[in-house]
Amino acid sequence: MARSASETASLAPEILAKYEPVIGLEVHVQLLTKTKIFCGCSTRFGDPPNTNVCPVCLGLPGTLPVLNKRAVEMAMRASLALNCKVHERSRFARKNYFYPDLPKGYQISQYELPLATGGWLDIEVGGATKRIGITRLHLEEDAAKNLHEGFSQSASKAYIDYNRCGTPLAEIVSEPDIRSSEEAYAYLTALRQIMLYTGVSDVNMEEGSLRCDANVSVRPRGSDKFGTKVEVKNLNSFRFLQKALEYEIERHIGVLESGGRLTQETRLWHQAEGRTVGMRSKEKAHDYRYFPEPDLLPVHVSSAWREEVRRSLPELPEAKRSRFVASYGITPYDAEVLTASKALADYFESVVKSGAPGKAAANWMQTELLRRLNDSGKEIDASPVSAKSLAELVTLVESEQPCSSPAAPPPILLPRKASALKSAIPPSSRPHAM
Ligand SMILES: [Zn+2]
Repeated sequence: MARSASETASLAPEILAKYEPVIGLEVHVQLLTKTKIFCGCSTRFGDPPNTNVCPVCLGLPGTLPVLNKRAVEMAMRASLALNCKVHERSRFARKNYFYPDLPKGYQISQYELPLATGGWLDIEVGGATKRIGITRLHLEEDAAKNLHEGFSQSASKAYIDYNRCGTPLAEIVSEPDIRSSEEAYAYLTALRQIMLYTGVSDVNMEEGSLRCDANVSVRPRGSDKFGTKVEVKNLNSFRFLQKALEYEIERHIGVLESGGRLTQETRLWHQAEGRTVGMRSKEKAHDYRYFPEPDLLPVHVSSAWREEVRRSLPELPEAKRSRFVASYGITPYDAEVLTASKALADYFESVVKSGAPGKAAANWMQTELLRRLNDSGKEIDASPVSAKSLAELVTLVESEQPCSSPAAPPPILLPRKASALKSAIPPSSRPHAM
């Protein structure tokens, strides 16, 4: 599709400011089950193509799906962590379309009765908290994967790996409450963190276990009507999401300002070209001919089961940050860094519980420990310094008078008892101020 001048021209800030972007995100999260959603095949990533398949996930005639209870439980964990109402009754539906990666000719998804609805997620942007509504979370099966490169006849043929077919997914649909690419980035970051904390998914974008599509429109500031919506796909990194949204917002405003009209369509983000391109028009929207899946019973979630899952949820990142600030005297910034992952937050708490003062522990971790781990490419669970050792060191340093040496800027304070520091830190990770 040829680019019009209005699509590429850089618009003046006062023109951009006349419009308000309206964004909603649809996020697919692969659930961390050992087996697929309707059969016993493994969901392991990276196995040789077409080795984790059976008649059920290949859609052979006469086979019947059996629902994986663990997948429902994981989706419930995600729903509850996102403040959704998990419904007592939900139902699977057939979404009919033809594509080579879909051997049955339909995808088993949920449609008019999803597992959960009506949640929210709080995000932080520019120092302010904003609540983004979550419309629904439903369960569905993934399709297979088309491979277009790396095989002898790739130039003329497409290859299909059915290993991914039938992998359980939770689709999380947000309300159109997002107003900028920064908010979209913050939403996806917060969502990813919650999925990791709850153990629902490894949300690895490179392996496809977190995928995101965006619905974008713009409207004159102050208007409460929605503009023409465009769906942007292929946003397989946080950076692509942000760039694609920025491009698309500017494109919409450019078209409207030049007196043009937008069409409802699906577009793809082309990273190499730094722009979106039209994929298919929504005027001929797919008719998926949804109907209730006759081979599966409706899903019944008893209140006892739901509450059992709710009780098993860990403390979530936001609650942990507030508690760290209130209990350990650290700043909201410290708390944000130290709760980036659950393992990091657990390590920090162990340091404090082993007797180190909160603020000093936070400083040592952020400056010395995380920098050294980062330099050596290690995660916190591979730290050569145990939480207990770091606590001893921090406590020792805090209780000693620091030697004031201009060559040793804080926070590398030199304790008088160097032997204690030596025993606290293994040789490989000793600060060079020694
Ligand atoms: Zn199978």
